[in-house]
Amino acid sequence: SDIKGLKLEDAPLPKSRNLDVLLEFENSKSKKTASFVVVGHVDAGKSTMMGRLLLDLGVVDQRTVDKLRQEATNIGKSSFALAWVLDQRSEERARGVTIDIATNRFETDTTAFTILDAPGHRDFIPNMIAGASQADFAILVIDASTGAFESGLKGQTREHSLLIRSMGVSRILVAVNKLDMVGWSQERFDEIKNQVSGFLSATGFQVKNITFIPVSGLHGDNLVRKSTDPAAAWYTGATLVDELENSEPSVRALAKPLRMTISEVFRTPQSQVSVSGRLDAGSLQMGDALLIQPSGEKAYVKSLQVDEAPVDWAVAGQNAVLHLSNIDPIHVRVGDIICDPTKPIQCLDTFSMKALAFEFLMPMQVDVHRGRMHAAGRIEELTALLDKVTGAVVKKKPKIAKPATVARIVVKLGSKVPLEAGQRVVLRSGGETVAAGLLE
Ligand code: GDP
Repeated sequence: SDIKGLKLEDAPLPKSRNLDVLLEFENSKSKKTASFVVVGHVDAGKSTMMGRLLLDLGVVDQRTVDKLRQEATNIGKSSFALAWVLDQRSEERARGVTIDIATNRFETDTTAFTILDAPGHRDFIPNMIAGASQADFAILVIDASTGAFESGLKGQTREHSLLIRSMGVSRILVAVNKLDMVGWSQERFDEIKNQVSGFLSATGFQVKNITFIPVSGLHGDNLVRKSTDPAAAWYTGATLVDELENSEPSVRALAKPLRMTISEVFRTPQSQVSVSGRLDAGSLQMGDALLIQPSGEKAYVKSLQVDEAPVDWAVAGQNAVLHLSNIDPIHVRVGDIICDPTKPIQCLDTFSMKALAFEFLMPMQVDVHRGRMHAAGRIEELTALLDKVTGAVVKKKPKIAKPATVARIVVKLGSKVPLEAGQRVVLRSGGETVAAGLLE
């Protein structure tokens, strides 16, 4: 029968209607999928490391890197060539040359990985929030060269670590980078390991979920292959890629109602509107009717792709491109949520959350970030201060919440946005992160 607002005759051919997608998924021999974000202080070497990783895995070829190196040498910055591997790819994306989220993807024998958000973006923190909200793990890059580490730990390393933990990422790989610059000093590595593990535990990471790997992103040591530098022989542990492969991705909410956050909107010859994004929960298949929030408009899935290949269905944890029919592009925006029209996500303009304070909290204007969505809002009131461990109410209606305390707060937004309990949101003010936590 017709679904309100949609005529069945406009639907695509029901090629794969009524598939039991979860059964199909179980029977498919698809590779394990995992996504991660790369965080750390500016200049720690994030882009260089990811460029080198893609080169060593054969995702980009030496010719491309040589071409970039030539261009970089021409402007006197030859060391930038590897970092440009990622930049070049994100610029291509911005121009719409490549349209899918698969640009920063690579595969090993067991796992298909997605590097969420290209590090080095201008709007880095909002990008990182979006990335971290979908990440299974994080790679924290620390600059081991003398002096740089200490300033990094005080600066962005701290904010980034707090943010990713607040967004629900529990597994963290710490790449202690630029060890070539300190002669592969084991002492330096151990010193950093001690300090950073203490700091990460205090941030809420469990010791068993923290792994340290000494690397040189520039030379590719201990990324894909073990370092052959005799000075690095003291390290007998795994490479970064081995550690990524050995990490268990978060449990996928396969049986929950469909939720997919739109990360890109574009037009293709196959459809009026195509969107890409990750399925946060549930599943979908070709021919399905979908609801897009907050517009409340419906559309059909005309066809879809996962990892660049046309497929009949997609499940939670996968990144998909959906070619939609029956929808005007004005109703579809980056950050919107696609859901099951029979079990839709609600749009709210007031919500209560359990917030970890990064700064002093009181009734104040804030920007509310949930994944890629952000909206202007205001902390209306502080309902209670909570015990950090038990969550029990310590004090009712406090005037203020101090940094590093947990408070239940009520936030009001300027407009209605799709929100539901269990989502993680970040509050920012004047370019600073002031709080992060869970919607109740
Ligand atoms: P990002 O801001 O964290 O993305 O840092 P970049 O990747 O742009 O690197 C910053 C600078 O550090 C560049 O000049 C790189 O060439 C240099 N760099 C990065 N990794 C290494 C490394 O492992 N060893 C050395 N010696 N230099 C590195």
